Amino acid sequence: MRMPINFLFGVFGPVLLSATDAGGAAEELVLAERGQSAVRIVVAASASPSTRHAAEELQTFLAEITGATLPIVGDEQPAAEREIILGQGRRLGQLGVDVDLPSLAAEGYVIRSVGPHLVIVGGEPRGTLYGVYGLLEDHLGCRWFAPGVSRIPKQDRLAIGPIDDRQVPLLEYREPFTFDCFDGDWCARNRVNSSAGRLGPEHGGKVRFASGFFVHTFARLVPPEKYFDEHPEYFSLVKGRRLKERSQLCCTNEDVVRIATDEIRRAMAAQPDATVFSVSQNDWHNYCECDACRALAEAEGSQIGPALQLVNRVAEAVEKEFPDKAVETLAYQWTRKPPNSMRPRPNVIIRLCSIECCFSHPLATCASEANQQFRRDAEGWAKVSRRLWVWDYVTDFRHYLLPFPNQRVRNDNIRFFVNHNVTGIFEQDTYNSPESELAALGGYLTAKFLWNPDYDEERAVGEFLEGYYGDAAEPIRRYLDLIHDHAEQHQVHVNIWANVDSPHLTDELLLEADRLWQEAEKQVAGDPEVLRRVQLSRMSVDYAIVERARLAAAKRALDASLLAEPARRRLEPFLDTLSTSGLTRLREHTTLDLADYRSKLAAALGRTD
Ligand SMILES: [Zn+2]
Ligand SMILES: [Zn+2]
Repeated sequence: MRMPINFLFGVFGPVLLSATDAGGAAEELVLAERGQSAVRIVVAASASPSTRHAAEELQTFLAEITGATLPIVGDEQPAAEREIILGQGRRLGQLGVDVDLPSLAAEGYVIRSVGPHLVIVGGEPRGTLYGVYGLLEDHLGCRWFAPGVSRIPKQDRLAIGPIDDRQVPLLEYREPFTFDCFDGDWCARNRVNSSAGRLGPEHGGKVRFASGFFVHTFARLVPPEKYFDEHPEYFSLVKGRRLKERSQLCCTNEDVVRIATDEIRRAMAAQPDATVFSVSQNDWHNYCECDACRALAEAEGSQIGPALQLVNRVAEAVEKEFPDKAVETLAYQWTRKPPNSMRPRPNVIIRLCSIECCFSHPLATCASEANQQFRRDAEGWAKVSRRLWVWDYVTDFRHYLLPFPNQRVRNDNIRFFVNHNVTGIFEQDTYNSPESELAALGGYLTAKFLWNPDYDEERAVGEFLEGYYGDAAEPIRRYLDLIHDHAEQHQVHVNIWANVDSPHLTDELLLEADRLWQEAEKQVAGDPEVLRRVQLSRMSVDYAIVERARLAAAKRALDASLLAEPARRRLEPFLDTLSTSGLTRLREHTTLDLADYRSKLAAALGRTD
């Protein structure tokens, strides 16, 4: 159910738990008033780097909200009348605060009013820091939309009523894999623990894949250039021939098991900070058809059979020596179907991949054959794996700028995964160039829903548009509705390789989209910073217009096209913005040659100046 726009724009005030809401002015803790504060932030001298950072972040943002700088003091000092107490330390005992720390694990926290004080304590290494961000975001209305773009609501008088808020994330691994979302402060403030995030000890670290063992590791574990000439039997037998090029491993070969185990053991010893080590197929087909591999695949009803047997044997060999580490493998393309009887060992993570799916409709309900099959496999994996993660896809890898109506499915799909026992989600977005289609919006929504899959979608979209695009929010909201309504109403299935002539776009739709972005620019013409954001985001519709016009020109049909006029009008503004945008790729595997792109596009559209 979608809500009217006026509702959206009505919910932006800070979610302040005032004394009236919570009942009883006596319980109120005044954090600051007229630029003054009587409250101290207390942190133990022995606190971890992330808890000390939590104190600094709290001090910084409370100062931004109120103008008052709360002092940070150690817990060896005698207690003051009003304190915000961060992390574990002697104060908790002095106040008789009993928190079940083990239940909070690494990232959970409690925010609790205790008499005139406020306690924020979490598990190590990130819980207390996340608790501070939880206070600032969930109770004081702060938002961090993109690196450098935040909403920190100013308050002349800042008071909180009684709080008792305990949160433990449903997902142990949360990664919006978006170039624009790798900033460490942004990640921590949005409570994502991205492997690619620039997250240091002050952020409490992150989920760390071993260097060199992130994904597609068969060739690294048993390199064909090292072993093939002497031992072709280590590699996949395809149509009667062992392959050296584009091969997979023969997973049932005992030497392969031994070599892979040795490599993983060596990597685990060499990289004590890493926790996830991938033993996974290379990124192509060509699985092994030898008798042993074939028999196992047939018995398990899936090519995951041989691969999982190898992974389980590696995992079993290292589990005692490295109990804190996991061996990860993919359920991807030809290994996606779950096995009949084989089960992943407890220290194995299965990463289920949705690459074939439609993303303009929810995974849970889209009627496409691709999504129906994916649902069957997800249900199967939900039953058999103890630690199930997902590799999901949220951009068009063929056209990074093309409008992609996938904003509305982000929360639905994350909820679908959570409902299928998934505990880690990697959302592969445009990871190797900034400023792809609505990257900041997508990254923000993903972060919100990964932390809380039930976070209200309308609210998340509304607060982002208001915070990021200011007075241009309303036409951009109508643009989002335009492209999403079209894909929903016309049942257009859009996958991650959609082309510019995909039916999720029409010339008429793009004319209306162009009009809405024109209106958006007009609304913020007096604010250069916001105008710049609008112009960067507008590249997406400009790109669709000029590229579809180019297709029409190739068919000698440009002059009859509705897009002839907007394409010629938007060409120069588009190229001007593109040239200063920092965008380095229009598609995943090709670096943008701007001069070449400009001259070919201009020539195709009949402009050679
Ligand atoms: Zn084989
Ligand atoms: Zn669909």
